[in-house]
Amino acid sequence: MPEATYDWDLFVIGAGSGGVRAARMAAQRGAKVGVAEAAALGGTCVNVGCIPKKLYSYAAHFAHDFHDAAGFGWDVATARLDWARLKANRAKEITRLNGVYEQLLTGAGVHISRGWAQLCGGHEVHVRNAAGTKRCSARNILIATGGTPSVPAFPGREHVVTSDQMFDLEPFPKRLLVVGGGYIACEFASIFNGLGAKVTQLYRGEQILRGFDRDVRDFIAAEVRKTGIDLRLGTDVRSVHRKARCLEVTLLDGSIVETDTVLYATGRVPNVSGLGLQDAGVELGRNGAIVVDEHYRTSLPHVYALGDVTARVQLTPVALGEAMVLVDHLFGKERTLSYEYIPTAVFTHPNIATVGYTEEDARRNFAGVTIYRSEFRALKHTLSGSSERTFMKLVVDTASDRVVGLHMVGPDAGEVVQGFAVAMKAGATKAVFDSTIGIHPTAAEEFVTMREPARN
Ligand SMILES: Cc1cc2nc3c(=O)[nH]c(=O)nc-3n(C[C@H](O)[C@H](O)[C@H](O)COP(=O)(O)OP(=O)(O)OC[C@H]3O[C@@H](n4cnc5c(N)ncnc54)[C@H](O)[C@@H]3O)c2cc1C
Repeated sequence: MPEATYDWDLFVIGAGSGGVRAARMAAQRGAKVGVAEAAALGGTCVNVGCIPKKLYSYAAHFAHDFHDAAGFGWDVATARLDWARLKANRAKEITRLNGVYEQLLTGAGVHISRGWAQLCGGHEVHVRNAAGTKRCSARNILIATGGTPSVPAFPGREHVVTSDQMFDLEPFPKRLLVVGGGYIACEFASIFNGLGAKVTQLYRGEQILRGFDRDVRDFIAAEVRKTGIDLRLGTDVRSVHRKARCLEVTLLDGSIVETDTVLYATGRVPNVSGLGLQDAGVELGRNGAIVVDEHYRTSLPHVYALGDVTARVQLTPVALGEAMVLVDHLFGKERTLSYEYIPTAVFTHPNIATVGYTEEDARRNFAGVTIYRSEFRALKHTLSGSSERTFMKLVVDTASDRVVGLHMVGPDAGEVVQGFAVAMKAGATKAVFDSTIGIHPTAAEEFVTMREPARN
């Protein structure tokens, strides 16, 4: 039988972190690649995630810097945030990045279709836009449609915003109520607190940042409270009412919070609605996440999925790593992505960064663990007068001496931990850490000078 012919070797739905990387790499290897994107190129990370968030985090850090400067002899005139200028500069940079992504794709020979794509059977995709519907066929189809914020049902839900709207709020909220205890909620609380809003953060659990090391969670909760965030645990929203001059939020205990903006950051769900997946026969798991194997193959042969839509590790570098493994697979080179020792940062003020096991997970997975921890005031704050403290922790598998967990709360924690993540992937032991000379005077040197175990 003659081999079927298709319009595309690979058609990618969604030009976000994973989709762009897969499309570009496949095209560079000679495949005929098309990609459909319903919104701006670059996806969540570029438009409403990592990048604008980090830019606003930098903006917010100036508030601490202006304050710290006095102890170093600087008199800084009263600082005032021009929110409109910050938004305009961010928008300009994001537009530039959208252009960079377009260049990356078209430069590699990828054809971009603007519109909403839908799967119609194993090899067919329909892309709808104002001009009509285009049909095409592809040997392989990749679904890289990411995730979207989810807000639970409650009276007044229509008055709240999600992280997608936070970057363009108008006007700047003098008071902000953040609902949620995950990393996105915590980051926005710190950022808007730094930018000058009076922030209240509510979380229904007993401590923020579930899944992170317990010591880290307790430490950051104390630190963000010091920065002025009113963090309330074990509570939730009952209803939100719009009043003439504010939003009136009633909590479960009956107390009332008056605020200008309510941000719901209580979770994200895979972006699968309207994709036609169930009709096409693609198996979905919990919360609609697409079920895939270690080569990102769905239940339909020739249909693949990766990144946030599979709801595994929802981070940009993971989506990029998965895309590269998939392209290798499509070109006959079999390898799998290791999900062990993925480092990650939370851009709270101060920052958190972590790699490997929490103490709790390590105790479940190893016969014995040794814990090293250190808490101190960074050198800078001896003159700045800031009460901010830094926290570091090592989790060591006692039997092998291997460092299996490394956690930091402190300035630029992500920059520090990235390098240590390489050492941990390489299997570095505590003895190797001990034999490494520190860089003095830095906070990071503390990771190679902790000698006395805090506990076993
Ligand atoms: C506020 C926030 C902060 C974050 N911060 C970080 C961080 O600091 N570090 C980090 O590593 N990660 C961060 N993330 C997570 C990161 O953004 C995601 O893990 C990453 O973007 C996932 O990439 P993806 O390719 O799976 O999907 P996405 O980047 O979300 O791309 C999906 C694309 O598909 C498009 N699409 C969806 N459905 C269709 C359709 N039917 N037809 C056509 N197009 C479609 C969407 O418009 C979108 O452009 C953050 C996320 C958020 C929300």
